Amino acid sequence: MNPVVDIENVTFAYGDSVAVRDVSLTISEGDFLGLIGPNGSGKTTLLHLMLGLYAPDSGSIELFGEPVSEFDRGERIGYVSQQATSRGGTMPVTVREVVTMGRFPHAGHARLTERDREIVDDAMETVGITDLADQRANQLSGGQRQRAFIARALASEADLLALDEPTVGVDAESRDEFYRLLESLNESGITIVLIEHDIGVVTDRADHIACINQELYHHGDTESFVESDALTEAYGTSGQVVHHHH
Ligand code: ADP
Repeated sequence: MNPVVDIENVTFAYGDSVAVRDVSLTISEGDFLGLIGPNGSGKTTLLHLMLGLYAPDSGSIELFGEPVSEFDRGERIGYVSQQATSRGGTMPVTVREVVTMGRFPHAGHARLTERDREIVDDAMETVGITDLADQRANQLSGGQRQRAFIARALASEADLLALDEPTVGVDAESRDEFYRLLESLNESGITIVLIEHDIGVVTDRADHIACINQELYHHGDTESFVESDALTEAYGTSGQVVHHHH
């Protein structure tokens, strides 16, 4: 399998405060990777590094075999940030307009083609928001908004979806549905990196797990993680582990 993300010996500090220390991690095509660790352990920072939003202080990162600094994020990668979940944003754009933004890297400055419109419609259909197409995006529930952002990524024909705690503020039922959607997208060949504080969700859904606390404590398939001591080592005995209740 081709590496989609290849991180080698990456260290990054905010000023004097090291957030990610000497992390090496390869994510292969088709992986569904759960990225876990206690609060403040560097998960979001590592994701931002992967996406080229920050440059590492040392080490290297490649996306699809290219240095991340030269990678055009508009293509191949869909990113759903934590902030995407919250309300706010008063721009009165419709759901269809949000999803259509996914076509811009492809359409350039040209007008959208009939094919672009079809891709947008298909993306909305796939995530189940067709009937919300003409609603204002800022009037959606958290779960619906997440689906709109996923649809935007699908419209851009992303091969990699990076999600940072996508179900914060989403009710349990919508959350389950959302994770089933992620699973089926992954089965269709999309590589997924998911930050999720609920370890039960991660061990249920992800096929690989990376556990960090500044340093990488474990990376491997879910089974090897469950059998390892990485959880207690990375989280300590501070009781920060969030247990999952079915
Ligand atoms: P996580 O996503 O695991 O909660 P973060 O990557 O957000 O962790 O943060 C890792 C560490 O870096 C934390 O100690 C946090 O306080 C610090 N940090 C995060 N963002 C910034 C920033 N913009 N400036 C300074 N420190 C930051």
